[in-house]
Amino acid sequence: MEVRPIKAEDTIVDASLAQEDSRYALLKASTIMLVDDEPVMLEIVQALLEEEGYQHFVSVEESPRAIEMLVRANPDLVLLDLDMPELDGFEVLKQVRFSKGYEHLPVIILTASEDPDSKLKALELGATDFLSKPVDPSELALRVRNTLSAKAYQDQLAYYDGLTGLPNRKLFLNCLVKGINQVNRDGGSFVLLDISLDRFQQVNETLGVYNGDQILKIIGDRIQSVVRSDDVVGRSEGSPQLENAARIGGDEFAIVLYGVGGVENASVVSTRVLEVIREPIHLQGDDVHLTASIGVAVYPEDGDEAGTLVKRAGSAKDYAKKQGRDRYQFYSSEMEAHSRAILKMISDLRIALEQKQFELHYQPKIDLNSGKIMGMECLIRWIHPEHGFVSPEDFIPVAEETGLIVPIGCWVLSEACHRASEWNAAGYDDLKVSVNVSASQFVDPEFKATIVATLQSSGLDPRNLVLEITESMLMGDVDKLAVLLHDIKNLGVSFSLDDFGTGFSSLSYLKKFPIDELKIDRSFLLEVPDNNDDNSIVRAIIAMAHSLGQKVVAEGVEEVEQLEFLRQHECDVIQGFYYSKPLKQSDFEEYLSKALPNAAAPFSG
Ligand code: C2E
Ligand code: MG
Ligand code: MG
Repeated sequence: MEVRPIKAEDTIVDASLAQEDSRYALLKASTIMLVDDEPVMLEIVQALLEEEGYQHFVSVEESPRAIEMLVRANPDLVLLDLDMPELDGFEVLKQVRFSKGYEHLPVIILTASEDPDSKLKALELGATDFLSKPVDPSELALRVRNTLSAKAYQDQLAYYDGLTGLPNRKLFLNCLVKGINQVNRDGGSFVLLDISLDRFQQVNETLGVYNGDQILKIIGDRIQSVVRSDDVVGRSEGSPQLENAARIGGDEFAIVLYGVGGVENASVVSTRVLEVIREPIHLQGDDVHLTASIGVAVYPEDGDEAGTLVKRAGSAKDYAKKQGRDRYQFYSSEMEAHSRAILKMISDLRIALEQKQFELHYQPKIDLNSGKIMGMECLIRWIHPEHGFVSPEDFIPVAEETGLIVPIGCWVLSEACHRASEWNAAGYDDLKVSVNVSASQFVDPEFKATIVATLQSSGLDPRNLVLEITESMLMGDVDKLAVLLHDIKNLGVSFSLDDFGTGFSSLSYLKKFPIDELKIDRSFLLEVPDNNDDNSIVRAIIAMAHSLGQKVVAEGVEEVEQLEFLRQHECDVIQGFYYSKPLKQSDFEEYLSKALPNAAAPFSG
């Protein structure tokens, strides 16, 4: 025998064959439905295809049962005989094409007839391809392979999200319906997780859509890694092929956990998903920090059809967002009642704006060195005509969620600047007025113009205006944000970092942004001076802020022991019930005149 040396081309051919094999390997998992009245034919075709590696078959001998079997088995391809008693292939094909969801299912016609009219008729009814009887094994294998391959490509386009490669909303809903059918048949339950990224719009606005897309891709991979990891969902028994992660909206993903392990696993999976999303995303040399909110609904307890289940998981997700984001929430009927109350609050808030139901209260800030009032924080109050006082903790998050915070914040800024300007003119000319600014105001393109206009109309010296922002507002495009902050600071206004220590704080951020003041969050002061850990944290914050040239305000100071500790560690300013609760305008004016007996008493009239 002649032995020829191995050539480079051989390996190339081998490699491309291997590639081709792997490309088609997935097709072998397809379900093929065979409809033929001759049992021998069914056996032969199945045996030939089994030889090619196909494993899933549904054989139908009685053609009138074809559609029933089709819906039950949901095949990827039908091989259909034309010549059958009772219902012939044309009729079956017609019925397939009229069945919802199967309008485009590939159907290969098996026919002994060479009659061109029959072929034409079958084509007109939507046949995909033909195979002549008796079947040639190679032709059968190739036609089946090519048809399945074309279907896989179309499915990819129609059912998968181009960005993340995950199933899209359409496929997700299909799977959900299949899951419901399966549970109805076999018993058990499954769980739906609706995952929504928090404030993703802000990411798109600050980092641009291209970077937003890159982030979505990374998040998609992370979610998939959670679903695939054995320790989390590997225990769910039943139908692993239905285990699903999907991208069902712009910044919305879903996971369905089937099988008995689903319900027990829902908390574990939700926690894992929250964890992986929280991990920083490295993008162009910066870290982007994201969180998500997850709503969980259980089938059949929370809804007996796909639409209801999706809606309820969505309500649970909305609830999680309103509870502060970065958490998961199981659906419950009490939660739904709460959601209705929120909807009512949204419409009430619009009325409140129109009817001026808001008031500002003022909480003095005391300079620890001089003991004098150096300024006040303006805190909004809503006097609801039916419910009376509504806490800002309750309505500010709702106002933020709906964008109503922008006009509300505008009113706060204007009211605060006008009052402060009056007080300055009345002799309290060093009083600095602090106004809380929320994230949506901050990203509003009109924000700077609003400040300029308000300063102008109120006549307030910009040096007496302090804007309180929070750490979470400084995430995103750091350079762009730094430009915005410097821009506003150039007006003469200063910035205070509120609730410091509760959000994500990167020390490098503190250096990049023009922050003049840090407000240590009340939670760190609650156990000062009895808790050594808290004492250390407070001392460290003061030392760090001072080394960066920033002033430190302690908020929520109620006890003299707290005050003494803060004085000892050179905290600059105190705000808290120890000195005064937030006061309505007239009470604050009285407080001012009493606290500074030497100053003019402008409020007596
Ligand atoms: P914040 O900006 O951190 O305001 C401080 C909160 O701590 C105020 O609650 C204040 O009343 C409370 N506080 C001050 N000293 C003490 C104390 O010694 N003990 C205790 N227990 N609490 C103290 P308030 O007025 O309920 O406001 C809550 C939050 O609502 C504010 O937290 C702020 O984030 C938000 N908020 C208030 N007014 C506005 C506003 O006009 N705009 C925006 N965007 N948010 C606002
Ligand atoms: Mg504040
Ligand atoms: Mg605060």
